[in-house]
Parts: sequence; structure tokens; C-alpha cells
Amino acid sequence: MMETYDVIVVGGGPSGATAADDLARAGHHVLLLDKAGRIKPCGGAIPPRAIRDFDIPDSQIVARVNCARIISPKGREVDMPVENGFVGMVDREHFDEWLRERAAENGAEWRRGNFEQLGRDSEGLAVVEYTPKGGGERVAVRARCVIGADGARSQVAAQAIPDQKPPKCVFAYHEIVETPRSADWNPRRCDVIYEGKHSPDFYSWVFPHGETFSIGTGSARKGFSLRGSIGDLRGRLGMTGWRTLRKEGAPIPMKPLKRWDNKRDVVLAGDAAGVVAPASGEGIYYAMLGGRLAAVAAAKLLETGDARQLATARAIFMKDHGKVFWILGIMQTFWYRNDWTRERFVKMCRDPDVQRLTWEGYMNKTLVRRDPLAHVKVFFKDLAHLLGLARA
Ligand SMILES: Cc1cc2nc3c(=O)[nH]c(=O)nc-3n(C[C@H](O)[C@H](O)[C@H](O)COP(=O)(O)OP(=O)(O)OC[C@H]3O[C@@H](n4cnc5c(N)ncnc54)[C@H](O)[C@@H]3O)c2cc1C
Repeated sequence: MMETYDVIVVGGGPSGATAADDLARAGHHVLLLDKAGRIKPCGGAIPPRAIRDFDIPDSQIVARVNCARIISPKGREVDMPVENGFVGMVDREHFDEWLRERAAENGAEWRRGNFEQLGRDSEGLAVVEYTPKGGGERVAVRARCVIGADGARSQVAAQAIPDQKPPKCVFAYHEIVETPRSADWNPRRCDVIYEGKHSPDFYSWVFPHGETFSIGTGSARKGFSLRGSIGDLRGRLGMTGWRTLRKEGAPIPMKPLKRWDNKRDVVLAGDAAGVVAPASGEGIYYAMLGGRLAAVAAAKLLETGDARQLATARAIFMKDHGKVFWILGIMQTFWYRNDWTRERFVKMCRDPDVQRLTWEGYMNKTLVRRDPLAHVKVFFKDLAHLLGLARA
């Protein structure tokens, strides 16, 4: 007899582990399947909203950032102090494992194995086949609902919604480097570098993680050497000789997919649904939210048997965040085009209104509605910089 679950969650990153945790807490019979064995390459920056909404304990925050330094192609530096809080840094080596453990403690069954195939049994229930970690024969389990949270190259998405193309991606690469004790180093500052030499269409970063830091870059341009770029950047910042612990990369999807469900019993979440904020590449908070919304949609399907409930995950997400994603997409297209526009973009970041709105939007995922004039001012300043009417 095949084991039967209410929900099988494929992928135990921030989206899948959150979905499994929520469903298990609500009393559902849940399997969390994760292939394990690879640390997710990630800068690890999360906003206070994520810490609050998903009860992330202090012990998972390895650094608290209180300033972002934005650096232009000409070397102009703009410091953007974080007001009323901090940006948290998590170490994905421990954070993801902790999320999976939390889901298991709350009742999800956690198995390590590689998802292989989605099929159907004679009753029409979804059958998930996976190869257990360490090898051996494939195992088949079935469920009334499947959540595909298996990342940017989701196999669940490819098999469940085959007529949909995978999302466009930026490829991001970073090196995890040991923080030297002797260095002139601010452990509470993030550096964000906008320079075509280091990324022709995205940005590069140095993010502190306490004992280590992440130095990385991203680009969608074919043939651009991300490793070469980081080698050069480390040379420029005097970090060449510092001890490197890991070198790794992964795709970042840049646009939410049009469909997150198969109109029957599968719903996608997180990177698998293409949900990462354009321009910033922020994905952890949105993945956790996507996991939560997928869990709610799955629970509604279980309760009502109505497959249309699955579409609510995307509908709610896009209602709350679609506009911001759209604006960020336009920003990325305009400002990350060449060094001339990047220079203007960094100059614009000096503006106190821009800083306030940026932090408010990032930290709490809300636009400041109480100050509409600031939005109007920023819009016109933005336009002036874009058209070159403001002096760089
Ligand atoms: C270099 C880099 C830097 C980034 N920096 C930041 C940042 O600073 N802040 C931020 O918010 N976001 C950042 N992101 C984006 C962020 O990492 C992702 O958006 C986020 O991890 C998405 O979570 P997820 O759970 O949807 O997918 P993932 O984190 O990719 O998790 C997918 C899970 O599925 C599992 N899986 C995959 N295939 C299978 C399979 N066949 N069978 C079983 N399990 C499977 C994997 O083991 C993994 O655990 C960065 C991304 C990259 C690449």
C-alpha cells in the first residue's frame, strides 16, 4: 500500500519549509521532501517583516546591518543608514536546516530524497516518486495536493504545468570568505556596487555574515564571467588573499509565472513560481510568503475539494506585491542599463525622500501611504535623473 498524505511539499527551502510547517501546525498529514546536501547560495539578507511574520529567532540572525553603502561606477559612495531597525542576515547553511527542523517538530514528516516524477494512481491521486538520499530504489507516495517548492529550476513545475516556459533568470554567483579580524571592516554595513565592469545588468554586493561574508554578483548576460568579476572586485577591495570557504552560484528567477497551479492538485511557491523581486533579487521573504499562501490554498482545496482554490495563492500575492514587482522591473530595465544611468541612480540615492521610501518599502513591505507628496517628489526627481536633466 502506498502511503497517502494530505499534502506533499517538494523542496525544503524557505518556501517549502514554511508551507510544511503551517500545514502541520494546522493538523494536516504532511510530507516534506528535500534533496539535501547542498547549501543554497544566497546573500542571506532579510527584512524585519520576515523576522516578525515567520517568527525567526535571534539565534538565526548572524549579523544586524544598519547601513547600506551604494557605490557608483565613478566610485561615488552614498551611505543609506537604516532607520528604526536593522536588516537581518541569515546563514543559509543553518537557516534552511532550522526551518526544516521546525516543520518536523510541528508534525511534518521530513524525508531526504530527490524528486523524480509526478504521476497518477488509479483513483487519480497525485503520486510522487523520489530516490532516497544515498540511492536505492525509487519510493512512491501519494497525496491529495502537492506543493512544488523546489527552486528556480523546478521539476514539479515542469511536469505539472508543462505548457508554461520556466521564468527568465539572472545567474548569481558568490564567494563565502572568512572575515579577517585584523581588517578595517564594518560588520554592520552592506556594500552594493553598481558598475558595469562587475555586472552589466544587475549589481554586485558585499554582505556581512558575522564570522564570514558573501561577496557576489549577478548577470543575465551570456558569456559574462561572474567568477572573473568577483576576482577583480576582490582585488580592487584588497580581499584577494582572504580565506575563501565556498564558491557557488544559482539562478534567480526575475518574473512571477503566469500560472502557479495545474487547476487540479499542484501549486507552486517561491522561486519555483518565479517569485523574486526584480532589481533587488530579494527572494527569501517572498518565498516564505509564497509558501504560506500555497499552504492556505492547499488547505482550502482539502476542505472544499474545489481546485479553483489553488489559484488564490497567486491572486493574493499579486494583489499585495504585483505593483511593487512591476515598478522594480522597470527600475532594473532603466537604471541598470549602462554606467551613465547607474551613476545617476546612485546620485539619486542621496535624496532623503528616496532613502525613506526605499527603506520603508524594503523593511515592512508597505508603501508609505501617509506621505503621498514624497512619492510625487521622488517620481519627478527620478524622471529628471533619467532624462539627464539633473546634474550627475
Ligand atoms: C547568489 C544568490 C544570492 C541571493 N541573495 C539573496 C539575499 O540576500 N536576500 C534574499 O532575500 N534573497 C536572496 N537570493 C534569493 C533567494 O536565495 C531565493 O529567492 C530563495 O532561496 C527562494 O527560496 P525557495 O524555498 O523558493 O527555493 P530554494 O531556496 O532554492 O529551495 C529549494 C529547495 O528545493 C530542494 N530541491 C530542489 N530540487 C529538488 C528535488 N528534485 N527533489 C527534492 N528537493 C529538491 C532544494 O534542496 C532546496 O532546499 C539570492 C539568490 C542567489 C542565487
